[in-house]
Amino acid sequence: DAALSADGLVKVYRGGKRALDGISLSVPRGSFFGLLGPNGAGKSTFINILAGLVLKSSGTVRVWDRDLDRDPRGAKAAIGVVPQELNLDAFFTPRELLDVQAGMYGVPKSERRTMEILDIVGLADKADSYARTLSGGMRRRLLVAKAMVHNPPILVLDEPTAGVDIELRQHLWEAIRGMNEQGTTILLTTHYLEEAEQLCDRIAIINQGRLAALDTTANLLKRI
Ligand code: ADP
Ligand code: ADP
Repeated sequence: DAALSADGLVKVYRGGKRALDGISLSVPRGSFFGLLGPNGAGKSTFINILAGLVLKSSGTVRVWDRDLDRDPRGAKAAIGVVPQELNLDAFFTPRELLDVQAGMYGVPKSERRTMEILDIVGLADKADSYARTLSGGMRRRLLVAKAMVHNPPILVLDEPTAGVDIELRQHLWEAIRGMNEQGTTILLTTHYLEEAEQLCDRIAIINQGRLAALDTTANLLKRI
């Protein structure tokens, strides 16, 4: 079964821009899936539809066997979304931020894995430091941790390394790999082939709102 699938997905923005022009693709459970394409290809639009931030125009989306139209709450619960912006409440600590997030998702105290998650993203030793004292790379890893508090089977990241320097990028990759090794399906967008190549086991290339290629990373690299 797929973790996530789209069938004939179309998004036309107000004003007429056709950002997605009939995308059909399927992300296998447990995979590390990359959505690759140049700026303006439609990657964020795709992710934002999954996150419930943008309404699709037509087509169907299924998330962990839930239809996005018929069971939007169920679909949303199966996804943790890491936003592109580094907006974090600066006067909270990672431990507090994860607790607030867990509360919002109704995760019972007994089922919270705060320290385990902070450990996976390499922030265990920063659990009680104010967010404002964390570097940009650490903040982004904290956002990854925040997206995981309700234990979603799918983690979605929009350009996770945008604005993160090379050294910190490595830390972030390790954190995301750790999630994938624990069984989480990863879907990330990037416009760097190198990033997709290093991380993903499967890559979809989109261009001008259409699917240009979809294959395992190994097969795709043979063709480029
Ligand atoms: P819709 O209701 O179709 O989802 P939005 O309400 O999200 O559209 O868009 C509001 C406005 O924001 C649009 O009319 C558009 O002019 C503008 N906008 C936001 N982001 C972009 C972008 N990346 N490119 C062009 N216009 C944008
Ligand atoms: P990517 O993430 O691959 O850079 P986007 O999904 O952000 O691509 O954008 C796809 C296309 O849709 C672009 O042409 C962009 O300008 C346009 N677009 C994005 N958001 C809006 C919006 N809210 N309103 C109108 N056009 C938008």
